Amino acid sequence: MAGWFDSHVHLDFWRVEEVPGVIRDAQQAGVEKILTVGRGVISSGANVWIAQRFGNVLAGVAIHPLWPDPMDGAAYDELKALTRNDKVVAIGETGIGVGRSPETRDQQRRKFALCIRLGRETGLPIVIHNDRESGADIIEVFEREKGMEVGGVMHSTMIDINSARPLWQMGVFISIGRQINNPDFKYLEEVVQKVPDDNLIIETDSAGGGTLPHHRNDATPAKLLEVAATVAKLRNTTMDHIREVSVRNTNKLLHL
Ligand SMILES: [Zn+2]
Repeated sequence: MAGWFDSHVHLDFWRVEEVPGVIRDAQQAGVEKILTVGRGVISSGANVWIAQRFGNVLAGVAIHPLWPDPMDGAAYDELKALTRNDKVVAIGETGIGVGRSPETRDQQRRKFALCIRLGRETGLPIVIHNDRESGADIIEVFEREKGMEVGGVMHSTMIDINSARPLWQMGVFISIGRQINNPDFKYLEEVVQKVPDDNLIIETDSAGGGTLPHHRNDATPAKLLEVAATVAKLRNTTMDHIREVSVRNTNKLLHL
């Protein structure tokens, strides 16, 4: 049986000695491939380092919108240097979202715009953090900065159908995360039911989702199948079909 692809993980959240076990458990659960994404310059470097050591792991580099690192010239150049590694296949995690962060909305918009520029300069797609309210801002910046030249994915989608639809219509992928199993996010069921097969991806966002970019959650890539089971049920289809669609779309997003 072909394997699953967890399109959004923060492997640098685990202690270094735990990382091989996390990857092994994922493989035992059928999660063959992992995209691990950075939050700042050091975190991005750590994820590239991990990806270099595990054949089934790929990396994204960026500064997270809730992370206080500035996206100044030095950071831009360091991230750009990391993209020269062949295991780096995306600019992420970037985006716009609320949270207990010192970053203002304007700072987040600027950082997001610079990350899209880095994506266009390096030919790499954009991994977009979002929340329920940030859809309009994301659409505005992504269009203005011509993000579709490289494409992108709304990761752990929290926007509702009104923002999700225009995004998938412009070709952005909609990645569904563990929120789909949380009753507080009931409104996401409509997004899951209506997004076309050609735009659907799934992920776990382990172990770093939340309103603070350094809060660890208890998810692991092996929990991808719990997300898949709910998505399959809501779309009235099989797990096999969800796997086939999500893996195909993740490969397409990452130009693999
Ligand atoms: Zn994340």
